[in-house]
Amino acid sequence: MSRRRFVLSLAPALVAPAWVARAWAATLPRASAVPGGVARVGLGASEQPPRVRLGSDRVLVMREADEWIAFVGIALAAKPGSTLRVEAEQAGGRLERFEIAVAPKAYASQHLKRYERERVHLSEVLRTFTDSPPATLAMLQPAPGERSSSFGLRRYFNGRARSPHTGMDFAAPAGTPVIAANAGHVIDTGDYFFPGRTVVLDHGQGFLSLYAHLEAIEVSVAQAVSAGSVIGKVGATGRITGPHLHFSVYLNAVAVDPALFLQDQ
Ligand SMILES: [Zn+2]
Repeated sequence: MSRRRFVLSLAPALVAPAWVARAWAATLPRASAVPGGVARVGLGASEQPPRVRLGSDRVLVMREADEWIAFVGIALAAKPGSTLRVEAEQAGGRLERFEIAVAPKAYASQHLKRYERERVHLSEVLRTFTDSPPATLAMLQPAPGERSSSFGLRRYFNGRARSPHTGMDFAAPAGTPVIAANAGHVIDTGDYFFPGRTVVLDHGQGFLSLYAHLEAIEVSVAQAVSAGSVIGKVGATGRITGPHLHFSVYLNAVAVDPALFLQDQ
């Protein structure tokens, strides 16, 4: 034992000793067939590496000891309990198929579960239809500031394409008061994964407005609000990089362009 330590201490500082390299190869990446994980598939000891595909995408194949191993990345969006099919083509043209059972992952599924639960909740909220019609369809600009990115623009989150932008953003400093764009009732408030602190107003007959990324919410569910009354403060809550107000307008449960309801600037 003491002899081993002595030998290691003499290893050149800039070169990792052989046992470190072996430890890396044997343990990384940690195989974990979960959403966002990596599955290892053993492919045998053929001379040439098999070509491996997941759907139409090529999969990384590396030699480990005397066997080829495919390292299959599993999409974060993969459903726990689902099966991924991997196809390996050996040098001679022989095809082999492998199945990877996607297991649940505690942190990932908590994350995804939260997001899924909120998505279902918000889509129910946005389906609200009350009988009394709005007095007007014209809306007040809910916060001062430049109207930034436009409705329908496709955005990215962690490098992945997300659904198109469902509203209009107002560049206003954190703490700026946010007003109700039209008279109505508060039908939902919450602190959600993507939109952060959010207020949804019902203006009648499925005409709704949504205010997201708020620093503070100053109304509560069922409260009546008049057009122009303060409902919260601009903030940077949710998955965004800087403070702004996100404003969405809904008719029959679909997001429509808020610009159609606002005075031209
Ligand atoms: Zn937005």
